[in-house]
Amino acid sequence: MGKDTCPICKNKSMNKYAPFCSGRCANKDLGNWLTGKYVIPGEKINDETLYDNLELINTNNKDKLDFS
Ligand SMILES: [Zn+2]
Repeated sequence: MGKDTCPICKNKSMNKYAPFCSGRCANKDLGNWLTGKYVIPGEKINDETLYDNLELINTNNKDKLDFS
């Protein structure tokens, strides 16, 4: 797969959401980070920060991301 492939679902990526194919995949990737699927050794996100970020994402997504 090349650089124009969505890392989440392997579909062709869109410039608008690069490197993802859609806002849905971009959000999924971000969610993976925040929920600790991608663990960065030596770094911990405390619960308060996590919930703050999730709230921010939910707010932003309504305007920025297209789930269709
Ligand atoms: Zn995708």
